[in-house]
Amino acid sequence: MGVYSGEDILRLIREEDVQFIRMQFTDLFGQLKNVAVTASQIQRALDGEIMLDGSSIQGSVRVEESDQFLKPDLDTFAILPWRPQYGKVARMICSVRNPDGSPFAGDPRNVLERALGAVRDLGLTLNVGAELEFFLFLTDEEGNPSTRTADQAGYFDLGPLDHGESTRREVTLALEKMGVAVEASHHEAAAGQHEIDLKYTDALSAADNIMTFKLAVKTLAQKNGLHATFMPKPLRDAAGNGMHINLSLFRDGRNAFHDESDPRGLSPLARHFIAGLLDHARGFCALANPLVNSYKRLTAGCEAPCCLAWSSANRSALIRIPVPRGQGTRVELRSPDPACNPYLTLAACLAAGLDGIRRELTPPPEIAGNLYDMPTEELAARRIRNLPASLEDALRAMEADGLVMETLGPYAARYIQDKRREWEEYRAQVTQWELDRYLVAW
Ligand code: GLU
Ligand code: MG
Repeated sequence: MGVYSGEDILRLIREEDVQFIRMQFTDLFGQLKNVAVTASQIQRALDGEIMLDGSSIQGSVRVEESDQFLKPDLDTFAILPWRPQYGKVARMICSVRNPDGSPFAGDPRNVLERALGAVRDLGLTLNVGAELEFFLFLTDEEGNPSTRTADQAGYFDLGPLDHGESTRREVTLALEKMGVAVEASHHEAAAGQHEIDLKYTDALSAADNIMTFKLAVKTLAQKNGLHATFMPKPLRDAAGNGMHINLSLFRDGRNAFHDESDPRGLSPLARHFIAGLLDHARGFCALANPLVNSYKRLTAGCEAPCCLAWSSANRSALIRIPVPRGQGTRVELRSPDPACNPYLTLAACLAAGLDGIRRELTPPPEIAGNLYDMPTEELAARRIRNLPASLEDALRAMEADGLVMETLGPYAARYIQDKRREWEEYRAQVTQWELDRYLVAW
């Protein structure tokens, strides 16, 4: 933090021939928004004087109180590598402010910053590494997306089967240029499905990086005539798109989840954190899995979780502890999907983990077997609960979770209201499946 001063930004804009600065923020539902200002307006932008009409943003303020301001985080200044390299375009990620300069409670980035205050007070830093999956689909003659792919590759396959190779390469190079470190990229299990893993960093930068990543993937896929989608389950019979998040707490530069003396190498802090995540996983599910479609991914099979359990190795569990220990010790939460708002999801996960620490919760015994194959009676005997089965179920669980509601603050109710409308709209649909099943039989 504190990499760039206002002077640095002015100099970079001059030296790099930047003509447009995109002032970016994310709305309550995870959509990236921006306004481009010309270089002549940079001083006003740095002074936080660029305005927006909040009433035109979904989930934001009412029309009577609509003026809001964008205060840029100078450290997020980056040139967009996919825009022309003369008269360049840069972006800065902003905090949405009220007219009196206070942080707007409905800005997800402000929500995460507030949540991070609690972990700082404990002398800890939350580090996050995200693994993002997506599909690259073909477009038709008019450029409209399809769900078809010419790619017949599978997990870890390489060219010439893998038609997404060039896009993955371009995304990785673009992100590195923007200061987003990438650890690995590969073809995923389904045809046309890919994954890129971002290197862990502090939670706020990680959420910013996820938003940057999604923009880069969409933009560069389009340049290659493909359509990139982060939709959680675009194809019924193929794996869905997950966004696993690797979480760890550091104290004075050392990983506080590691304990050499523990047979599993996990500290009591890590165990409390795991227990907190399990305790609130139903409550934050509507944030981590925000779409009607999200719940079609959270079903047995295809390595997506559906049960509230943790395990060292098993990918059917909600939480997995990957093998590395020492500085690499981490908790992998497997439920989130890439349609989620990363700021709200990370704020809620952090609050859940810290609640586990505060209450010194103990996690249940870890599960060794494959949860997909475990009979219902055994799940019940072990008191293993399920994740919500639908968006409606998740919204009810969120409402019932005081900690998650409090973490989101005054805009939690607004989130639920809009999402419930989405659910109701879906509920009223008559689907092809229903017609196929009932039209003739009944
Ligand atoms: N695609 C799977 C999911 O929906 C995850 C596969 C993996 O383990 O990487 O979560
Ligand atoms: Mg994967």
